[in-house]
Amino acid sequence: MANLTNAQLETLKNKLLERQRVLVLEVRDKREQAANEGNEDAMGGVGDAGDESVLRMNTDLDIQEAGRDMEELNAIAAALRRIEDGSYGECEECGQDIGFPRLEAQPTATRCIVDQEKHEKTFATRSTPTL
Ligand SMILES: [Zn+2]
Repeated sequence: MANLTNAQLETLKNKLLERQRVLVLEVRDKREQAANEGNEDAMGGVGDAGDESVLRMNTDLDIQEAGRDMEELNAIAAALRRIEDGSYGECEECGQDIGFPRLEAQPTATRCIVDQEKHEKTFATRSTPTL
């Protein structure tokens, strides 16, 4: 178990649960949106500017986006499992504590910053959205 206090674990768990809630709603919205494709009324008064730009993207991008949401939901579920089994907060590569500040910024992190950077160099992943 990583060197986190119960209060820190609780904070991170709440962040994960809150993010999970938001994503579940987002995925549901996107499904509805896909079902209403071409219906301009669906755009009326929804969310902030960021949401609107997402809504304006074409369906391919919506699907990519939904895929990312699903990935993140899986990562959140995995993080919650790790909290339950006590392995949360340890780097899966080197076993060191990931550290609370990094976890607070990214509660689904499975690697310390050093191994994360190595991993990102090894697996050139999709480009990060600039939004
Ligand atoms: Zn590491």
